[in-house]
Amino acid sequence: MPAASPTVFFGHGSPMNAIENNAFTNDWADFGERFVSLNSSHLKRRESENVRSETPVYPNAVLVISAHWTTQGICVSTNPKPRTIHDYSGFPPELSQVEYPAPGSPALAQHVINLLREFVAPEPICATTSWGIDHGAWSVLRHVFPKANVPVVQMSIDISKPAAWHVEVARKLQKLREYQVLIVGSGNIVHNLGAINWSDNAEPHPSSVAFHKYIVEAIENNDIDAIANYASHPDAAYAVPTPEHFLPLLYVLGARRPNEAPNTVTNGFVYSSLSMYSVAFG
Ligand code: ZN
Repeated sequence: MPAASPTVFFGHGSPMNAIENNAFTNDWADFGERFVSLNSSHLKRRESENVRSETPVYPNAVLVISAHWTTQGICVSTNPKPRTIHDYSGFPPELSQVEYPAPGSPALAQHVINLLREFVAPEPICATTSWGIDHGAWSVLRHVFPKANVPVVQMSIDISKPAAWHVEVARKLQKLREYQVLIVGSGNIVHNLGAINWSDNAEPHPSSVAFHKYIVEAIENNDIDAIANYASHPDAAYAVPTPEHFLPLLYVLGARRPNEAPNTVTNGFVYSSLSMYSVAFG
């Protein structure tokens, strides 16, 4: 098999992570640094005469499936200069001054459409310049790739479809990894805003812990069917009251290659009902 980009799920948590430096955001940044240095050394081995040793090698592009872009049918963002979307309320004004000026990649967007067109037919795939980079994407990416020098394309989550369908879509996208496209899912395995306890010392709710443990064990056992059937878990109603933050995980697991072991990027709970577990493959 050709060398492929990793694929990674980020538990993005609060939008404030965008402007904070904490254990989670530091781990996201470490992932980005490791990614660039590993990628550089792989390429150096292949093309040792042509690549100067100090040249960092970034992915060709990032394809983000974010909890914060849900639609009926799939949409893909095609704007070559995507805007930074400040899609939240109730946070300090400095958060809304953050810009993440990464370019888009109409070429990658078209590649995504080409890979999926037949699978979703006769439903069309909408290509839109109106969507930009939402906070599910930029709040993490500004730590992972702080130079905003890697093109970003977003693909929406068709919220009308069952969990297993999202896995199938992701399997069609797996090939993008061979083109050094970093497929990113951004959500949270446990995400219950109604149950949030804003205390910094809040203990995770027992239902958070039980559901999270079930999912992480299924990831370790490569049991994607158990994960796609998450709704049958007795704590799913607490942990996943709405599916949009959970579904991005299925895109990363669908893009996982056989025998790729999970590499934990970061782990932990905040505010009792948010899990920050982030995991990479490859
Ligand atoms: Zn979110």
